[in-house]
Amino acid sequence: MSAAEIPVDVDVLRDADQPLAWLDNSAIAGLMAIGLRDWSTDVVLCTNGPSELPDEDRAHLAAAGIPVSEQPITGLEPHGDGASITLSGGAPLARRAIFTHRETRQRSDLAAQLGCATLEDGSIEINDFGQTSIPGVYPAGDMARRPTMPFPAAQVVHAASAGGIAAIAADRELIGNEIEAQGASGAAQ
Ligand SMILES: Cc1cc2nc3c(=O)[nH]c(=O)nc-3n(C[C@H](O)[C@H](O)[C@H](O)COP(=O)(O)OP(=O)(O)OC[C@H]3O[C@@H](n4cnc5c(N)ncnc54)[C@H](O)[C@@H]3O)c2cc1C
Repeated sequence: MSAAEIPVDVDVLRDADQPLAWLDNSAIAGLMAIGLRDWSTDVVLCTNGPSELPDEDRAHLAAAGIPVSEQPITGLEPHGDGASITLSGGAPLARRAIFTHRETRQRSDLAAQLGCATLEDGSIEINDFGQTSIPGVYPAGDMARRPTMPFPAAQVVHAASAGGIAAIAADRELIGNEIEAQGASGAAQ
């Protein structure tokens, strides 16, 4: 088991003002690190190399008292109840817990095979009714989102809700198709 996999009971961290780190160099790194300030006044954002954080995010992080460490990370070691981050050319950073962000990705190429339009990160593009650019294809959950949502919601409740909406829309489409077919066959008689 690596230091990064040491299980931590998240409930003991909540509001406990423990030293925490957000390890991430994605577009939402600043936002997520600031979110951790709800739990602790001692939060460090480690980007593991040069970051392209926008100036606005850097200003928000500074206002929240969150330093940004852009030094490359060369190791993670167990340390007391938590872990120590080894930074290239810097002092080790001991933290009670280290959080990170894992991006979602398509595991199946089914949507690509069907020709569904996708967003920049590979998520399948859907509209408010869960419809894709290909009629009759209704993805739901982590694999799809509306363009107005900047990143996948990636929570069970959202996946279930999207599935429910897609089911209603698909059902309506099937009923509509049936009515149309009946109309066409009636007109042909
Ligand atoms: C470590 C971790 C912790 C999380 N914690 C929380 C949490 O506390 N609360 C919360 O709400 N959400 C949490 N989430 C997110 C949540 O798990 C997802 O948002 C949710 O499971 C999405 O549901 P889904 O049905 O879209 O996808 P999934 O649950 O990923 O289901 C997709 C299924 O499709 C299968 N599959 C993939 N490709 C194919 C194929 N080609 N053929 C057949 N089957 C295929 C996969 O094996 C999988 O079973 C967590 C996620 C992770 C990774």
